[in-house]
Amino acid sequence: MSSQDLVAGSLSRADHEVLFHTVINTAVDGIIVIDEAGGMLLFNRAAEILFGYTPEEVLGRNISMLMPEPYRLHHNGYIQRYMATGEKRIIGIGREVTAQRKDGSTFPMYLSVGEDHVGGVRVFLGILHDLTDRTSRERDFQELQNELLHALRLTAMGQLTSALAHELNQPLTAVMNYLNAARRTLDGGGEQAIGRVREFMDKAVSQTQRAGQIIRRLRNFIEKRDSDRLPEDLNSCVEEAIALGLVGATDRDVKITTELADDLPPVVIDRIQLQQVMINLMRNAFEALENADVRQIVIRTQRPAPDFVQVSVADSGPGIPPEIMPNLFIPFSTTKSKGLGMGLTICKAIVEAHNGRIWVAARREGGAEFAFRLPVVEVTEA
Ligand code: ADP
Repeated sequence: MSSQDLVAGSLSRADHEVLFHTVINTAVDGIIVIDEAGGMLLFNRAAEILFGYTPEEVLGRNISMLMPEPYRLHHNGYIQRYMATGEKRIIGIGREVTAQRKDGSTFPMYLSVGEDHVGGVRVFLGILHDLTDRTSRERDFQELQNELLHALRLTAMGQLTSALAHELNQPLTAVMNYLNAARRTLDGGGEQAIGRVREFMDKAVSQTQRAGQIIRRLRNFIEKRDSDRLPEDLNSCVEEAIALGLVGATDRDVKITTELADDLPPVVIDRIQLQQVMINLMRNAFEALENADVRQIVIRTQRPAPDFVQVSVADSGPGIPPEIMPNLFIPFSTTKSKGLGMGLTICKAIVEAHNGRIWVAARREGGAEFAFRLPVVEVTEA
């Protein structure tokens, strides 16, 4: 018994017709049927998506409208030659061809053509498989996204240049002071000089390390790089982000409090991208405190449920201006004269790309609290 008998045996004629339409319209590949003059008789849903035409726009018209020149011009000739000679160039064989969408753009597809008779009329059925290299498109998109994120990191750090220069100057000044003190001690001579000089040297070394650490963090953060997700310790990620994002905050009398949970599992994240989110939130909090009487930022990590971890940045500023609230995470929404209005949009995109969620809440005691959640993924050795 053939599969056709099985289907026919269990379905009514009407059901059969429904099944036929379902199959045609749920097919992932484009399906087009033409008559021997090239007139289109059937144009399925996948073909609509591929070409951008509705069936009404194409049915009855010549298939050549879906081809770019010079094929468009010659297609009728191809059919006629096949009918005259029986020479198969594509029918029953299939090959890669170029097709043209309604908007004039072209794309590669694999076309296989079958032939049959329906009600005494010869018909050709084409199956069209889109060959546009999706992976390469995705790669292009990913690269573009990385470029954009990189540009925004550079912008963010550009805004922090003077604070960072100040931060670097502190250990360098200390190194100079220790070295001067060491020289004076050596000049003075005496029995204890060597021991004192060693002490000064040790202190100079540790200050040099501090300066090196600031530069290393900065370099890691602004380096151009591909996206990379690894199991990371969220708290150390937050601490590094604070060192960059809240640089200079204590000089402006901003009190920074951290409450980092110690039971957090590793999270699989792109560390730099997530730090970009944290730094954006921290800079916004810092900027919101400019004219505030109480200047406090609280940064918290926690695991509110077994399957996710949460980071929040709360400030004692004026809270979110009501006029911006509905568009907060939409590009170019800003109340700052020099604001880009891209920060929160980028935060949302990065968090959602990590299957997380970001939101803002008003604090009872005044100010805004931004928080985001990330799913906890079991990290296996593999
Ligand atoms: P930008 O900082 O360039 O304006 P964002 O997307 O980061 O862009 O922020 C958009 C707007 O949201 C800000 O202009 C500000 O009005 C508001 N905003 C963001 N964070 C805070 C905050 N912590 N307190 C008050 N308002 C905030």
